[in-house]
Amino acid sequence: MRQARLIRRLTAKSVLEQMGWKGARLTRLERTDLATITADELDRLTDVLRFPAEFFTTPPVTHVEPEDLSFRAPKSTLESEKNRMAQMMALSGDFLLQLDERHRLPPLRVTPRPGLDPIAAAAAARASMQVAPDEPIANLTHLVERHGIPVVLRGERFGGQGLEENHRGRLEKHLGCSAWIGEFKERPLIALRELDSWERTRWTVAHELGHIMMHVGVAAPEDEERREDEASRFASEFLAPFAAASTMVRGEPSLVNLLPVKDKWGISLGALLRHFYDSGAMDVDRFEMLRRQLYTRINTDTGFTWGRTEPGWDDRAPERPRLMRKWVEFVYGSGSVKSVLAHETIWPRDLLLEFMMGQRESSVPAAAAPARRGRAGDDDVVQVDFAAYRGRERQA
Ligand SMILES: [Zn+2]
Repeated sequence: MRQARLIRRLTAKSVLEQMGWKGARLTRLERTDLATITADELDRLTDVLRFPAEFFTTPPVTHVEPEDLSFRAPKSTLESEKNRMAQMMALSGDFLLQLDERHRLPPLRVTPRPGLDPIAAAAAARASMQVAPDEPIANLTHLVERHGIPVVLRGERFGGQGLEENHRGRLEKHLGCSAWIGEFKERPLIALRELDSWERTRWTVAHELGHIMMHVGVAAPEDEERREDEASRFASEFLAPFAAASTMVRGEPSLVNLLPVKDKWGISLGALLRHFYDSGAMDVDRFEMLRRQLYTRINTDTGFTWGRTEPGWDDRAPERPRLMRKWVEFVYGSGSVKSVLAHETIWPRDLLLEFMMGQRESSVPAAAAPARRGRAGDDDVVQVDFAAYRGRERQA
Protein backbone atom coordinates (compact mmCIF):
# COMPACT_ATOMS: atom_id res chain seq x y z
CA MET A 1 0.00 0.00 0.00
CA ARG A 2 2.82 2.37 0.80
CA GLN A 3 4.58 1.63 -2.49
CA ALA A 4 1.38 2.17 -4.48
CA ARG A 5 0.65 5.39 -2.61
CA LEU A 6 4.17 6.76 -3.19
CA ILE A 7 4.10 5.81 -6.88
CA ARG A 8 0.82 7.75 -7.18
CA ARG A 9 2.32 10.74 -5.33
CA LEU A 10 -0.51 10.66 -2.79
CA THR A 11 -0.19 11.75 0.80
CA ALA A 12 -1.31 9.44 3.57
CA LYS A 13 -3.90 12.05 4.47
CA SER A 14 -5.51 12.04 1.05
CA VAL A 15 -5.67 8.23 0.90
CA LEU A 16 -7.11 8.18 4.40
CA GLU A 17 -9.81 10.65 3.37
CA GLN A 18 -10.63 8.91 0.11
CA MET A 19 -10.89 5.57 1.89
CA GLY A 20 -13.02 7.08 4.63
CA TRP A 21 -10.62 5.69 7.23
CA LYS A 22 -9.93 7.25 10.58
CA GLY A 23 -6.84 7.89 12.69
CA ALA A 24 -3.79 5.71 12.29
CA ARG A 25 -5.45 2.97 10.24
CA LEU A 26 -3.42 3.64 7.08
CA THR A 27 -0.13 4.02 8.94
CA ARG A 28 -0.76 0.73 10.71
CA LEU A 29 -1.64 -1.01 7.46
CA GLU A 30 1.43 0.39 5.72
CA ARG A 31 3.71 -0.82 8.50
CA THR A 32 2.47 -4.36 8.86
CA ASP A 33 3.56 -7.23 6.60
CA LEU A 34 0.15 -8.87 6.49
CA ALA A 35 -3.27 -7.45 7.23
CA THR A 36 -6.88 -8.32 6.56
CA ILE A 37 -9.23 -5.85 4.92
CA THR A 38 -12.73 -6.36 3.55
CA ALA A 39 -13.38 -7.10 -0.11
CA ASP A 40 -15.19 -3.79 -0.31
CA GLU A 41 -12.17 -1.94 1.07
CA LEU A 42 -9.89 -3.72 -1.38
CA ASP A 43 -12.18 -2.59 -4.19
CA ARG A 44 -11.97 1.00 -3.11
CA LEU A 45 -8.23 0.75 -2.58
CA THR A 46 -7.72 -0.40 -6.17
CA ASP A 47 -9.71 2.66 -7.30
CA VAL A 48 -7.94 5.16 -5.10
CA LEU A 49 -4.40 3.87 -5.76
CA ARG A 50 -5.03 2.63 -9.32
CA PHE A 51 -3.24 -0.67 -8.72
CA PRO A 52 -4.85 -4.09 -9.31
CA ALA A 53 -6.03 -6.06 -6.28
CA GLU A 54 -3.33 -8.68 -6.91
CA PHE A 55 -0.67 -6.09 -6.24
CA PHE A 56 -1.85 -5.79 -2.65
CA THR A 57 -1.91 -9.55 -2.11
CA THR A 58 1.61 -10.10 -3.49
CA PRO A 59 4.46 -9.51 -1.03
CA PRO A 60 7.08 -7.01 -2.20
CA VAL A 61 10.60 -8.44 -2.44
CA THR A 62 12.94 -5.51 -3.04
CA HIS A 63 13.16 -2.76 -0.47
CA VAL A 64 14.65 0.54 -1.56
CA GLU A 65 14.49 3.82 0.32
CA PRO A 66 15.89 7.15 -0.90
CA GLU A 67 19.06 6.75 1.20
CA ASP A 68 19.80 3.43 -0.59
CA LEU A 69 20.14 5.16 -3.96
CA SER A 70 23.63 5.87 -5.23
CA PHE A 71 23.03 9.60 -5.34
CA ARG A 72 21.80 12.27 -3.04
CA ALA A 73 18.95 14.23 -4.59
CA PRO A 74 19.49 17.99 -4.31
CA LYS A 75 17.80 19.61 -1.34
CA SER A 76 15.26 21.23 -3.63
CA THR A 77 13.89 17.79 -4.59
CA LEU A 78 10.52 17.13 -3.01
CA GLU A 79 10.31 14.33 -0.49
CA SER A 80 7.52 12.79 -2.59
CA GLU A 81 9.79 12.67 -5.65
CA LYS A 82 12.65 11.04 -3.75
CA ASN A 83 10.24 8.46 -2.37
CA ARG A 84 8.75 7.79 -5.76
CA MET A 85 12.18 7.33 -7.30
CA ALA A 86 13.12 4.78 -4.63
CA GLN A 87 9.87 2.85 -5.08
CA MET A 88 10.26 2.88 -8.87
CA MET A 89 13.65 1.22 -8.38
CA ALA A 90 12.12 -1.33 -5.98
CA LEU A 91 9.21 -2.18 -8.26
CA SER A 92 11.31 -2.27 -11.46
CA GLY A 93 13.52 -4.63 -9.46
CA ASP A 94 10.58 -6.85 -8.50
CA PHE A 95 9.39 -6.92 -12.10
CA LEU A 96 12.86 -8.06 -13.19
CA LEU A 97 12.87 -10.73 -10.46
CA GLN A 98 9.50 -11.93 -11.70
CA LEU A 99 11.00 -12.28 -15.19
CA ASP A 100 14.04 -14.01 -13.68
CA GLU A 101 11.81 -16.66 -12.06
CA ARG A 102 10.40 -17.56 -15.47
CA HIS A 103 13.57 -17.20 -17.52
CA ARG A 104 16.91 -16.77 -15.78
CA LEU A 105 18.44 -13.31 -16.20
CA PRO A 106 22.15 -13.21 -17.09
CA PRO A 107 24.05 -13.97 -13.87
CA LEU A 108 25.88 -11.07 -12.26
CA ARG A 109 29.45 -11.40 -13.48
CA VAL A 110 30.87 -8.18 -12.11
CA THR A 111 32.40 -8.50 -8.67
CA PRO A 112 32.31 -5.36 -6.53
CA ARG A 113 35.74 -4.42 -5.21
CA PRO A 114 35.19 -1.94 -2.39
CA GLY A 115 38.49 -0.62 -1.16
CA LEU A 116 40.07 -0.39 -4.60
CA ASP A 117 40.90 3.07 -5.88
CA PRO A 118 39.00 4.17 -9.01
CA ILE A 119 41.86 3.37 -11.39
CA ALA A 120 42.34 -0.16 -10.04
CA ALA A 121 38.55 -0.67 -9.85
CA ALA A 122 38.18 0.38 -13.51
CA ALA A 123 40.86 -2.14 -14.51
CA ALA A 124 39.16 -4.83 -12.40
CA ALA A 125 35.78 -4.08 -13.98
CA ARG A 126 37.25 -4.30 -17.48
CA ALA A 127 38.96 -7.57 -16.58
CA SER A 128 35.77 -9.11 -15.17
CA MET A 129 33.95 -8.14 -18.37
CA GLN A 130 36.77 -9.48 -20.54
CA VAL A 131 37.49 -6.14 -22.17
CA ALA A 132 41.20 -5.64 -22.82
CA PRO A 133 42.81 -2.48 -21.37
CA ASP A 134 43.41 -1.09 -24.87
CA GLU A 135 39.99 -1.96 -26.28
CA PRO A 136 37.31 0.71 -26.75
CA ILE A 137 33.82 -0.27 -25.60
CA ALA A 138 31.36 -0.14 -28.50
CA ASN A 139 28.08 -0.41 -26.62
CA LEU A 140 28.51 0.06 -22.89
CA THR A 141 24.84 -0.45 -21.98
CA HIS A 142 24.82 -3.79 -23.77
CA LEU A 143 28.08 -4.82 -22.09
CA VAL A 144 26.76 -3.99 -18.65
CA GLU A 145 23.44 -5.77 -19.25
CA ARG A 146 25.19 -8.87 -20.59
CA HIS A 147 27.09 -9.03 -17.32
CA GLY A 148 23.92 -9.09 -15.28
CA ILE A 149 23.23 -5.43 -14.54
CA PRO A 150 19.88 -4.36 -16.04
CA VAL A 151 19.39 -0.75 -17.08
CA VAL A 152 16.09 1.13 -17.03
CA LEU A 153 15.26 4.59 -18.33
CA ARG A 154 13.37 7.22 -16.42
CA GLY A 155 11.57 10.25 -17.76
CA GLU A 156 12.09 12.36 -14.68
CA ARG A 157 15.04 14.52 -13.85
CA PHE A 158 16.35 12.89 -10.66
CA GLY A 159 15.94 16.30 -9.10
CA GLY A 160 17.66 19.53 -10.08
CA GLN A 161 19.20 20.36 -13.42
CA GLY A 162 21.02 17.56 -15.15
CA LEU A 163 23.98 19.52 -16.38
CA GLU A 164 25.24 21.22 -13.27
CA GLU A 165 28.92 20.97 -12.57
CA ASN A 166 30.27 20.71 -9.09
CA HIS A 167 32.99 23.01 -7.81
CA ARG A 168 35.69 20.74 -9.15
CA GLY A 169 34.45 21.04 -12.69
CA ARG A 170 32.98 17.56 -12.92
CA LEU A 171 29.71 16.83 -14.56
CA GLU A 172 27.26 16.45 -11.74
CA LYS A 173 25.48 13.29 -10.97
CA HIS A 174 21.79 13.89 -11.40
CA LEU A 175 21.57 11.93 -14.62
CA GLY A 176 21.24 8.48 -13.14
CA CYS A 177 21.24 6.35 -10.05
CA SER A 178 21.65 2.75 -9.04
CA ALA A 179 20.47 0.46 -6.26
CA TRP A 180 20.65 -3.22 -5.36
CA ILE A 181 17.54 -5.31 -5.90
CA GLY A 182 16.32 -8.65 -4.58
CA GLU A 183 15.56 -10.00 -1.14
CA PHE A 184 19.27 -10.01 -0.35
CA LYS A 185 20.17 -7.05 -2.55
CA GLU A 186 21.93 -9.50 -4.81
CA ARG A 187 21.73 -7.66 -8.14
CA PRO A 188 22.48 -4.06 -9.10
CA LEU A 189 20.06 -2.05 -11.20
CA ILE A 190 20.96 1.16 -13.03
CA ALA A 191 18.38 3.85 -13.82
CA LEU A 192 19.17 6.65 -16.25
CA ARG A 193 17.37 9.73 -17.23
CA GLU A 194 16.42 9.45 -20.90
CA LEU A 195 18.99 11.73 -22.53
CA ASP A 196 19.51 12.79 -26.11
CA SER A 197 23.27 13.01 -25.61
CA TRP A 198 25.13 9.79 -26.41
CA GLU A 199 28.18 11.08 -24.54
CA ARG A 200 26.31 11.74 -21.31
CA THR A 201 24.33 8.53 -21.56
CA ARG A 202 27.49 6.40 -21.77
CA TRP A 203 29.32 8.34 -19.13
CA THR A 204 26.38 8.07 -16.72
CA VAL A 205 26.24 4.28 -17.12
CA ALA A 206 30.00 4.13 -16.44
CA HIS A 207 29.62 6.41 -13.40
CA GLU A 208 26.92 4.17 -11.90
CA LEU A 209 29.07 1.12 -12.60
CA GLY A 210 31.74 2.88 -10.54
CA HIS A 211 29.37 3.15 -7.58
CA ILE A 212 28.45 -0.53 -7.99
CA MET A 213 32.11 -1.58 -8.07
CA MET A 214 33.42 0.56 -5.23
CA HIS A 215 30.67 1.62 -2.84
CA VAL A 216 28.82 -0.50 -0.32
CA GLY A 217 25.86 0.61 1.75
CA VAL A 218 24.57 4.06 2.59
CA ALA A 219 27.16 6.85 2.37
CA ALA A 220 27.81 8.95 5.46
CA PRO A 221 27.19 12.62 4.58
CA GLU A 222 30.92 13.39 4.81
CA ASP A 223 31.66 10.60 2.28
CA GLU A 224 29.18 11.64 -0.38
CA GLU A 225 31.40 14.05 -2.26
CA ARG A 226 34.34 11.64 -2.20
CA ARG A 227 32.14 8.83 -3.54
CA GLU A 228 30.93 11.04 -6.37
CA ASP A 229 34.48 11.97 -7.30
CA GLU A 230 35.54 8.32 -7.21
CA ALA A 231 32.63 7.20 -9.41
CA SER A 232 33.42 10.00 -11.90
CA ARG A 233 37.12 9.17 -11.99
CA PHE A 234 36.18 5.52 -12.47
CA ALA A 235 33.80 6.39 -15.34
CA SER A 236 36.45 8.15 -17.43
CA GLU A 237 39.16 5.58 -16.72
CA PHE A 238 36.78 2.70 -17.43
CA LEU A 239 35.68 4.18 -20.77
CA ALA A 240 39.14 5.38 -21.82
CA PRO A 241 42.02 3.86 -19.80
CA PHE A 242 44.57 6.65 -19.67
CA ALA A 243 47.58 4.45 -20.46
CA ALA A 244 45.98 3.43 -23.77
CA ALA A 245 44.06 6.61 -24.64
CA SER A 246 46.99 8.95 -24.04
CA THR A 247 49.14 7.23 -26.69
CA MET A 248 46.93 8.93 -29.30
CA VAL A 249 47.93 12.43 -28.18
CA ARG A 250 51.30 13.77 -29.27
CA GLY A 251 52.52 16.83 -27.43
CA GLU A 252 50.29 18.89 -25.16
CA PRO A 253 46.59 17.93 -25.13
CA SER A 254 44.30 20.37 -26.97
CA LEU A 255 40.65 20.28 -27.93
CA VAL A 256 41.62 19.43 -31.48
CA ASN A 257 44.00 16.59 -30.70
CA LEU A 258 41.60 15.13 -28.12
CA LEU A 259 38.82 14.85 -30.71
CA PRO A 260 40.13 11.58 -32.21
CA VAL A 261 40.39 10.23 -28.65
CA LYS A 262 36.74 11.08 -28.09
CA ASP A 263 35.79 9.41 -31.35
CA LYS A 264 37.70 6.20 -30.63
CA TRP A 265 36.81 5.71 -26.96
CA GLY A 266 33.30 7.16 -26.91
CA ILE A 267 33.77 9.74 -24.18
CA SER A 268 33.09 13.48 -24.25
CA LEU A 269 35.80 16.12 -24.65
CA GLY A 270 34.64 17.62 -21.37
CA ALA A 271 35.22 14.35 -19.52
CA LEU A 272 38.52 13.79 -21.36
CA LEU A 273 39.89 17.17 -20.26
CA ARG A 274 39.21 16.31 -16.65
CA HIS A 275 40.51 12.76 -17.15
CA PHE A 276 43.80 13.90 -18.74
CA TYR A 277 44.23 16.55 -16.05
CA ASP A 278 43.55 14.06 -13.22
CA SER A 279 46.00 11.64 -14.84
CA GLY A 280 48.79 14.21 -14.91
CA ALA A 281 48.84 14.96 -18.65
CA MET A 282 48.46 18.73 -18.16
CA ASP A 283 48.82 21.36 -15.49
CA VAL A 284 45.94 23.27 -13.96
CA ASP A 285 46.48 26.36 -16.15
CA ARG A 286 46.20 24.38 -19.33
CA PHE A 287 43.18 22.51 -17.99
CA GLU A 288 41.40 25.78 -17.16
CA MET A 289 42.32 27.27 -20.53
CA LEU A 290 40.99 24.27 -22.46
CA ARG A 291 37.81 24.25 -20.41
CA ARG A 292 37.30 27.94 -21.22
CA GLN A 293 37.78 27.16 -24.90
CA LEU A 294 35.24 24.35 -24.65
CA TYR A 295 32.65 26.70 -23.23
CA THR A 296 33.26 29.61 -25.62
CA ARG A 297 33.76 27.94 -28.99
CA ILE A 298 30.53 27.72 -30.98
CA ASN A 299 29.44 24.56 -32.71
CA THR A 300 28.15 25.93 -36.02
CA ASP A 301 25.92 22.85 -36.46
CA THR A 302 23.86 23.64 -33.40
CA GLY A 303 24.58 27.25 -32.44
CA PHE A 304 25.62 26.12 -28.95
CA THR A 305 29.06 26.14 -27.39
CA TRP A 306 31.22 23.04 -27.67
CA GLY A 307 30.55 22.57 -23.97
CA ARG A 308 26.85 22.09 -24.72
CA THR A 309 27.05 20.22 -28.02
CA GLU A 310 30.57 19.04 -28.71
CA PRO A 311 31.81 18.19 -32.19
CA GLY A 312 30.68 14.61 -32.70
CA TRP A 313 27.51 15.12 -30.66
CA ASP A 314 25.59 13.54 -33.52
CA ASP A 315 28.01 10.75 -34.43
CA ARG A 316 26.25 8.03 -32.48
CA ALA A 317 22.72 7.26 -31.36
CA PRO A 318 22.38 7.42 -27.58
CA GLU A 319 22.60 3.89 -26.18
CA ARG A 320 19.35 2.36 -25.02
CA PRO A 321 18.83 -0.64 -22.76
CA ARG A 322 17.45 -3.89 -24.09
CA LEU A 323 17.56 -6.57 -21.43
CA MET A 324 14.14 -6.04 -19.85
CA ARG A 325 12.38 -5.97 -23.19
CA LYS A 326 14.27 -9.04 -24.39
CA TRP A 327 13.24 -10.93 -21.26
CA VAL A 328 9.62 -9.90 -21.69
CA GLU A 329 9.89 -11.38 -25.20
CA PHE A 330 11.39 -14.61 -23.80
CA VAL A 331 8.74 -14.97 -21.13
CA TYR A 332 5.57 -13.64 -22.76
CA GLY A 333 6.27 -14.21 -26.45
CA SER A 334 6.32 -10.56 -27.47
CA GLY A 335 7.96 -7.44 -26.13
CA SER A 336 4.78 -5.47 -25.61
CA VAL A 337 3.12 -4.37 -22.40
CA LYS A 338 -0.06 -5.96 -23.73
CA SER A 339 1.51 -9.41 -23.67
CA VAL A 340 2.63 -8.91 -20.07
CA LEU A 341 -0.87 -7.83 -19.07
CA ALA A 342 -2.31 -10.96 -20.69
CA HIS A 343 -0.36 -13.09 -18.20
CA GLU A 344 0.35 -10.98 -15.14
CA THR A 345 -2.31 -9.30 -13.09
CA ILE A 346 -0.31 -7.50 -10.43
CA TRP A 347 0.96 -4.53 -12.45
CA PRO A 348 -0.94 -1.44 -13.60
CA ARG A 349 -0.53 -0.79 -17.31
CA ASP A 350 0.97 2.67 -16.88
CA LEU A 351 3.62 1.30 -14.52
CA LEU A 352 4.62 -1.42 -16.99
CA LEU A 353 4.95 1.27 -19.66
CA GLU A 354 7.21 3.19 -17.31
CA PHE A 355 9.33 0.08 -16.57
CA MET A 356 9.76 -0.60 -20.28
CA MET A 357 10.32 2.98 -21.35
CA GLY A 358 13.01 3.37 -24.00
CA GLN A 359 13.88 -0.35 -24.13
CA ARG A 360 15.29 -1.21 -27.53
CA GLU A 361 13.37 -3.44 -29.90
CA SER A 362 16.03 -4.50 -32.32
CA SER A 363 18.90 -6.78 -31.41
CA VAL A 364 21.31 -4.64 -33.41
CA PRO A 365 23.47 -2.78 -30.89
CA ALA A 366 22.42 0.85 -31.21
CA ALA A 367 25.93 2.23 -30.99
CA ALA A 368 27.68 -0.24 -33.27
CA ALA A 369 27.45 2.05 -36.26
CA PRO A 370 27.24 5.82 -36.46
CA ALA A 371 23.60 6.74 -36.74
CA ARG A 372 21.71 9.95 -37.08
CA ARG A 373 19.27 10.21 -34.30
CA GLY A 374 15.72 11.32 -34.11
CA ARG A 375 13.25 11.07 -31.32
CA ALA A 376 14.75 9.53 -28.18
CA GLY A 377 14.20 5.80 -28.08
CA ASP A 378 13.32 5.60 -31.75
CA ASP A 379 16.02 3.50 -33.35
CA ASP A 380 14.84 3.81 -36.90
CA VAL A 381 14.33 7.53 -37.27
CA VAL A 382 16.99 9.04 -39.49
CA GLN A 383 16.09 12.71 -39.53
CA VAL A 384 17.41 15.23 -37.10
CA ASP A 385 15.17 18.10 -36.20
CA PHE A 386 17.58 20.79 -35.05
CA ALA A 387 14.82 23.23 -34.20
CA ALA A 388 13.18 20.69 -31.91
CA TYR A 389 16.54 19.83 -30.42
CA ARG A 390 17.25 23.46 -29.63
CA GLY A 391 13.78 23.86 -28.17
CA ARG A 392 14.30 20.87 -25.90
CA GLU A 393 17.68 22.09 -24.77
CA ARG A 394 16.27 25.49 -23.98
CA GLN A 395 13.55 23.93 -21.85
CA ALA A 396 16.17 21.82 -20.09
ZN1 LIG B 1 27.10 9.26 -8.41
